[in-house]
Amino acid sequence: MKIIESAIEMCGLAKNFSTEGESIGFVPTMGALHNGHISLLRKCRKENDVAVVSIFVNPLQFLKGEDYDKYPRQLALDKKICSAEEVDILFIPQVGSVYQKGFDTFIDQSHYGRFLCGPFRPNHFRGVMTVVAKFFNIVRPDKVYFGQKDYQQYLIVKRMVEDLNFHIEVKMLPTVREEDGLAISSRNIYLGPKQRKIAPVLYQSLMRTKELVAQGVVNVKRLKPEMIRMLACNKGLKVEYVEFANVETLEPVNEVKTQALVAVAVRLGNIRLIDNMIITRG
Ligand code: AMP
Repeated sequence: MKIIESAIEMCGLAKNFSTEGESIGFVPTMGALHNGHISLLRKCRKENDVAVVSIFVNPLQFLKGEDYDKYPRQLALDKKICSAEEVDILFIPQVGSVYQKGFDTFIDQSHYGRFLCGPFRPNHFRGVMTVVAKFFNIVRPDKVYFGQKDYQQYLIVKRMVEDLNFHIEVKMLPTVREEDGLAISSRNIYLGPKQRKIAPVLYQSLMRTKELVAQGVVNVKRLKPEMIRMLACNKGLKVEYVEFANVETLEPVNEVKTQALVAVAVRLGNIRLIDNMIITRG
């Protein structure tokens, strides 16, 4: 496995792979790798000649007061994981080499940022899109891999790829969960024992909704309060949002007609957790 710290070097390598006709798969991450990331690495490894993984904690996507400085970093372990998964290139640039002095160009979206996490994390997706677009230009991937856990991010990237004519296939893989249903996240290590015990309620509330839809309860006016009740009865848990949305546009729906995205964000103390499920009626 090659470890590359310079964007210029990464660009050069990617160019060579392209001219040699080798397909490049790419998994962008912020590190602190876990089984969710590993499922993406494995798929990427399987489907491409060259597997590239980036680890970059992107300051642009953290708001003031968020956990940029405290975000878990475990580079030595991440290197071992990538090497064991037969990643070809681990790209770990420094902040200064990604955002050089005078950096002044950003990518933004107008529609998708209005929904779900958008209003709670202003400019977050602008930071994500800007770094993802830069990395797409540096790595020149044919296929990129994202997790359903961040469904809104996946949709936004997919849209950007179409809108800006990147010739890239954007793939989404299912959310990997702990045994009790909690969606695995690098931030889960922040959870204290009591919070960790409460945290699977996000998944339980999604499963309860799935069950109700299967029983024919499809009106969001009935489903949403039930979810909020299940979540909010836990001490120390604050619901940020529970939304039922169109899977393509993220616009709110009143009824689960054929399919709906059910998305939830909560705060457990200072820790923000998100989860979602695509629920199909029928
Ligand atoms: P992050 O390091 O949190 O920026 O995540 C990098 C990629 O891994 C994103 O595409 C995430 O959606 C994906 N990811 C994170 N957690 C999971 C999970 N539990 N299951 C599947 N994919 C995940």
